Amino acid sequence: MNSLKKTLNIECSCGHWNNITFDTVFFEPPLPEPKVRMMKRMYKPLEETKCSKCGRVIAKPEELFDIVKGREAVRYRIKQSS
Ligand SMILES: [Zn+2]
Repeated sequence: MNSLKKTLNIECSCGHWNNITFDTVFFEPPLPEPKVRMMKRMYKPLEETKCSKCGRVIAKPEELFDIVKGREAVRYRIKQSS
C-alpha cells in the first residue's frame, strides 16, 4: 500500500505560501440520514506548523484540509469528539 502522505501548499494570512506534509484521512461529514453517508478524502497536518515567514500557526492536527484548484488548500476546523 502506498504512503498516504501528501505535501500541500497552504497560504498564510500574511500571503506567504508554506509547504506542509499531511496524512490522508477519510472524513465522514455529519449527516442526518445514515443511508447517504459518504466519505470525503481530506488532509490532516502531521503536526502544528507555523508560517516560515511570520510565525503564525497555520496548520494544526485537529484541523482538516481539503484541496481546491490543484495545489491550494482550504482549511476545515473539526470538532474534537469523545
Ligand atoms: Zn505568515
